[in-house]
Amino acid sequence: MSGFTWEREPFTRCSKCGHTTMGILSVGGHLLTKRCANCRNTMQIPLPELDKKAIYLDQFMFSMIYNVKNEGNLPKGHEAFAKEVYALLRRCVLLQQVFLPHSDIHHDETTVFHSPIDLRGLYEFFGGDVSLMDSRDVELLQDIQFAKAFFDDKEPDVSLGLDEIADSRRNEWLPDMHVGVRADYSQFADHIRSVRGEVHDALKHLADTWIEKKATFEGVLESESSAIGPTKEQAFAKWFEEVSNPDPSDPMALFESSGRPIFREYQELCHLLEDRGVEEDQHLVAIMKFWNWERQREIPHQKISSYLFAAVARRVVMGEKKIVDRGLVNDVRTISTYAPYLDALFVDKRCAALLKEDPLRTELEYKARIFSLNDPDEFLGYLREIEGGTPDETREYAAMIYGID
Ligand SMILES: [Zn+2]
Repeated sequence: MSGFTWEREPFTRCSKCGHTTMGILSVGGHLLTKRCANCRNTMQIPLPELDKKAIYLDQFMFSMIYNVKNEGNLPKGHEAFAKEVYALLRRCVLLQQVFLPHSDIHHDETTVFHSPIDLRGLYEFFGGDVSLMDSRDVELLQDIQFAKAFFDDKEPDVSLGLDEIADSRRNEWLPDMHVGVRADYSQFADHIRSVRGEVHDALKHLADTWIEKKATFEGVLESESSAIGPTKEQAFAKWFEEVSNPDPSDPMALFESSGRPIFREYQELCHLLEDRGVEEDQHLVAIMKFWNWERQREIPHQKISSYLFAAVARRVVMGEKKIVDRGLVNDVRTISTYAPYLDALFVDKRCAALLKEDPLRTELEYKARIFSLNDPDEFLGYLREIEGGTPDETREYAAMIYGID
């Protein structure tokens, strides 16, 4: 063959013209399209079914992968791990055994990364480009499932299948060429930094209160759980005040208010009540009752985050105040929203250690296996096991399409 062709290697013999010019034209969904560069004879081959594992990597891991790829600085003491995990993840993704989903939590953190566009491009390309439902929407989804139970006087039925929160196309074969959209979100960076700063200040204040009151795990868990209703009521009152007395010099504030999680939950709950024939003037009363329902604390995201904060409080009282840092809230949100749905989460050492403590270890239920730098070999072992379990037929096609051996 000489010159440019749309078809690419490996070339096999064409059944129509007899030349060794049958190459790969494209891959998409569950089909491999081969075409002859000589006579244009085209063939579509169905590819094996896939059942990819969802492995969530936190921002630290994605930055590390970015640095391996770009020969940047690797975290001290973890250089060998960084290189090996990069190679293994790449291999598992190309073998179509794994995808590395991204979420709004990544997007927020990516925006404050020094080269946000490149990093974003990396996880969209490297990870198989599957996005998860936003963490706030996952919370809302669970809240609504519990609200239905409350309004209908039934047992809560929370479905924690991955299909609830991830695109069903995740089990398709990756296209062999990837065209990424380079979106620039850096305009939001300042806003995100300042919100994170505010949240961090509030947490530090809370940490001081824990120390002052010598808070216990049980005490914080109980106060976190019983604060769910009042916190929602307060957030709702604050939202209501803002929209009732808009600041004429700040029209954006009003716009922002309409996207508040509390307002969105309120709206969804109103719809549920409407469907059930409840009069409009009764909505707020019914919603307040739901917010103060005893079983709010059983909603998976509420339960996991309350336990994590109680465990953080226990550490703080023992003198580990530095456990409260800027990343804590995002780490807790990642685990409390996504751990029930995904196969594995690679998170910060601190949160991974907290999850191994009692009573979190025994009383929290979620699907994901939790990994961290506390035990890097455990994660490598997990990936090797997945790699080794790839069905032969899938392995052969992956080798042919993506050029891995
Ligand atoms: Zn041909």
